[in-house]
Amino acid sequence: MTSVFLVSPDFFRASLKKKVVDGELLAVAAALKDAGFPVSIFDAYRSKESPWTTLLDQLNLVHSPILFVHLWKVEALEGEANRVISEISAIRRTIPNLRVVGFGYLARALKTQLPSSGGFDAIADADGSEVFSSDEQSSDFKRATQVLSLSLAGKQTSNLAVMAEHLATTTGKDDVVSIHASRGCRARCTFCTYNADLSKGWMPRSINSIADDIETVLQNSSASKIAFYDNDFGGSLDELEYRTSQLESILRARNLLGRATFSMNVRSDCLSERSLFSMRAIGVRTILVGLESFNEDTRLKRFGKILDITHLRRMVALCDNLDIEILLSYILWHPWQNPEGLKEEVKLIQEIGRHRIPQLLTRSILRVVPGTPVAHLLGFEKIQASQATTFMFKVPETERLYSRMNQWLEDRLKNINNAGLLHGPERFETLATLKLDELDYYQQTLLESL
Ligand code: SF4
Repeated sequence: MTSVFLVSPDFFRASLKKKVVDGELLAVAAALKDAGFPVSIFDAYRSKESPWTTLLDQLNLVHSPILFVHLWKVEALEGEANRVISEISAIRRTIPNLRVVGFGYLARALKTQLPSSGGFDAIADADGSEVFSSDEQSSDFKRATQVLSLSLAGKQTSNLAVMAEHLATTTGKDDVVSIHASRGCRARCTFCTYNADLSKGWMPRSINSIADDIETVLQNSSASKIAFYDNDFGGSLDELEYRTSQLESILRARNLLGRATFSMNVRSDCLSERSLFSMRAIGVRTILVGLESFNEDTRLKRFGKILDITHLRRMVALCDNLDIEILLSYILWHPWQNPEGLKEEVKLIQEIGRHRIPQLLTRSILRVVPGTPVAHLLGFEKIQASQATTFMFKVPETERLYSRMNQWLEDRLKNINNAGLLHGPERFETLATLKLDELDYYQQTLLESL
């Protein structure tokens, strides 16, 4: 059977983010192996120097290889994605009989771009695949793509053996290993790329299989940091309580409590005192919650996000007591923002804690993914910019303020970069200082301009 190469691209080469072992890719690899395909996993983060040359060398040794590229980082949409696509396209041009399939949230967000890139033959998701290449596809290609979709739909068999083998040879103690605990989300945020999965609602994996994955990581590598990469670990308040307490009991019974730390994404309205206590016992150290805006009108009417802010504030206070870091995803700059709104948001950010918002404020901007409800809304209100992924501010003064903030940030980043402070051990402190300076600059500027 034809060999399938699974690739996790190196998004954010210069990023401060930790290296993540791509658990979704391992699950797909396991499903393909079970279906009889010889599989090679290629983690571009781990390949030194020139990852794509190494991959090209390996592909050249195989007859009619198939390449599955996990385009998973939606945050790469406007930057790094183009580099990765052009690198894959160059490989595809060099090996004409290579067949390339993109999958993952970013692949879906790039749905209109990938067919014309020359690098990809198809996109696959849990519902099946869309082939846009006119080249004839072999039966192995069709079968492998089918297995990929089944795996994405959560119907894969256990990936423990593949996971164990990969982890044992590639994973170090500082690496983060990603695990999916569920799929989809019951919310309906208008900007969300993950929404494409939502026709199926929210589908949990069994807690026992999640515990198996955790055990495999701990037994086969020195890694002890695990990130649940699903959009919403819990699904609802009751389910989150049930799932966290179940996981706590199983990990306790297997003597695994305290051996790993975890991060997870949850919806604010699913959180409760009970689930947070279980999370603490499990070893959850960071949770990411979507806030998006303090302004209820913006949150609800523009972003379609239902959230009880009083409840969120209570959960934030509880997390502080339990020593769980709660981070908030947040969108400061959006087409409907106005100077008064900015001032109010900045005040509330300071109140809740600047450190809870991971992005720089100027980078905290609505990312418009083609096909999402918010993209349609922009088209309807005629505030879509020429590039499909950007927008125009409705209020000209907001545009002026944004340009000013952007200029300030660019200048600062240039200076920091020239001084070599974005690399090496001091980079985290540099970034923290930059965030505080940025907040000061926002406060001053907004005070002057209003
Ligand atoms: S809660 Fe998060 S994952 Fe769910 S729809 Fe909203 S942004 Fe998407």
